[in-house]
Amino acid sequence: MAAAEKKAEKGDGGYKKMTDLQVIEKNKTTSKITFSIKGIDATFANAMRRNMLDTVPVMAIEDVEFRKNTSVLYDEIVAHRLGLVPLSTDLKSYNMLSKCKCKGEGCNRCQLKLTLSVKGPAIVYASDLKSKDPKVKPVQAKIPIAKLLKGQEIELEATAILGQGKEHTKWSPGLVWYKHKPEITINDSKINNAEACAQACPVHVFEANNGKLKILKDNQNKCHLCKACIEVSKGAITVENNLKEFIFSIEPWGQLSPSEMAATAATMFNETLDELDEKLKKAQNLENEAKS
Ligand SMILES: [Zn+2]
Repeated sequence: MAAAEKKAEKGDGGYKKMTDLQVIEKNKTTSKITFSIKGIDATFANAMRRNMLDTVPVMAIEDVEFRKNTSVLYDEIVAHRLGLVPLSTDLKSYNMLSKCKCKGEGCNRCQLKLTLSVKGPAIVYASDLKSKDPKVKPVQAKIPIAKLLKGQEIELEATAILGQGKEHTKWSPGLVWYKHKPEITINDSKINNAEACAQACPVHVFEANNGKLKILKDNQNKCHLCKACIEVSKGAITVENNLKEFIFSIEPWGQLSPSEMAATAATMFNETLDELDEKLKKAQNLENEAKS
């Protein structure tokens, strides 16, 4: 890894100019962020996407011990629903079960207990889960779990642990996707149906005015390269992928922020590369020993 790092420092590693990142959109309610990024290629973009989805650990309920359940739902269904409730995650305070000092037996550094006790008539919501750690609790309070009629009751104790999306989607921290930046050009002299071209675009990239067509700058990045405009304009509009620039979107479910997702993915990726590096060196040494 040291050689690769030195190369990147010199600027000939290819990723040195990745600092050219511009935020396009930030949604305060959903925490979704969209940004443009230059200086990377599709393999790197996809590695980051997959690492964010598959390896970044988040908390989710894994075991449920039922004390009472007289609702119409089987224990398994209630447990399954509880597992899919996103829990805010504090990565500094918890370890993955496999990496914990307790060697997977379970301790307060790798698991968290939550309790729930509701008597009907009532709707059981995610917010009824009472966590022993205020930093780890349901992200969305109003996720319905079950409907209880008069006399029905649910009482349980759940155990949440850190896990990874590659094992089960309940441990996935959100959605991540990217596309090449769309480059759109209009050949004004060839346009004779500006209104039809503007209407053909499903994401409203164009505006037609008195037979003239213009690109709405704020909407240009929304273009998903369907190329309907090319067809309607009979080639007067061209749309191309900019192979050197990407539009990246990160939409978290709420367990972690987009920056936590990206930073943790990079750390996990580095760890994987270090592990590969070590194994290759070991294999090389063994080969050398065999030769001598
Ligand atoms: Zn432990």
